[in-house]
Amino acid sequence: MTKAQPATGAVQQRPLGPGQPVAPSLDDLQAKAAAVHEALPWIKRLSGCTVVVKYGGAAMGTAGFDTFVDDVVLLRYVGVDVIVVHGGGPEVSRLMARFGKESVFVDGHRVTDAETMDLARMVLVGRVNKTLVGRINTHGRLAVGLSGEDGLLLVARPRVDPGGRDLGYVGDVAAVDPTALRALTDKGLVPVVATVAAGPGGQPYNVNADAAAGSLAGALGAEKLVYLTDVEGLYADLDDPGSLLQQLTVAEIEAILAEGRVAAGMVPKLTGIVTALRGGVRRAHILDGRREHALLLELFTDSGVGTMVSSEEPEGFGEPQGGAPMSRRGSGNPRGVPR
Ligand code: ADP
Ligand code: MG
Repeated sequence: MTKAQPATGAVQQRPLGPGQPVAPSLDDLQAKAAAVHEALPWIKRLSGCTVVVKYGGAAMGTAGFDTFVDDVVLLRYVGVDVIVVHGGGPEVSRLMARFGKESVFVDGHRVTDAETMDLARMVLVGRVNKTLVGRINTHGRLAVGLSGEDGLLLVARPRVDPGGRDLGYVGDVAAVDPTALRALTDKGLVPVVATVAAGPGGQPYNVNADAAAGSLAGALGAEKLVYLTDVEGLYADLDDPGSLLQQLTVAEIEAILAEGRVAAGMVPKLTGIVTALRGGVRRAHILDGRREHALLLELFTDSGVGTMVSSEEPEGFGEPQGGAPMSRRGSGNPRGVPR
């Protein structure tokens, strides 16, 4: 058997055979090895930790979906206890439309009569959950799907609308019991949670997936909570693409919420982040789930993407820069330490 010659550093391109693509050069391979090596400190930091990832309905069906599944599997294989919580609002709306039902929202909450609850449960637990579980399990026996009703993972109390409007079976998370999740992660499995909760008398309730993810992350003592959605992160002004906020503290998030500076789907994410971080979670991230490998880019590279929220105030962190309305992470953000 002849040994390969040592590399000289020159770019070498070699066809694999007639009609075959050109083999990668040694330089290309070395760059790939360097990228894997760059992940080492973050893998060391996160291995053995719990990460809760909420995958939003808004990102489903985009180019990022398949790589999201692969990233979850990779996290599992490097020893991270990963828990997936998912939404699915747009799919619920689509099924309702097929049944001739109009979706009505009050302050972002879907008004949920008995029939809507039935349809939402069918879509979230029967379809979206099983699609995710099925896709993850193409990699082997990894994912187990649950809804919040299983093992009383999520218990809801009926939401009282401040305007006195009848929201039906819309609930707030009253209690979480992560026993079932821990039983699964302890066996190296990946729980995938549909956020239908158990309400009074065993009645299923529709709870916000962002809120549920925040409560579960806190109850699990997670290291990180990650929201994958359909924007790059949190913007100071949604209409100004240059106003992406890269790095904030939980206190700054509380101020943004108190001042009513965000709207729509971002409000429950920010309240979920506050719940989680005030409950002991160290970091939360809002990332663009449409982007391929958004999770890996954030968790395993030197440059973060999206918005990061920290429970503590590190040195030189949180200083308003250039009169920005909220503090932001410097562009490029080379990070000396795993975050
Ligand atoms: P998901 O399915 O991921 O929960 P949502 O549509 O509920 O998605 O929430 C994400 C949406 O939040 C964005 O598409 C955006 O329109 C809205 N949003 C409101 N305010 C902001 C803000 N300040 N920065 C970013 N997104 C915002
Ligand atoms: Mg949402």
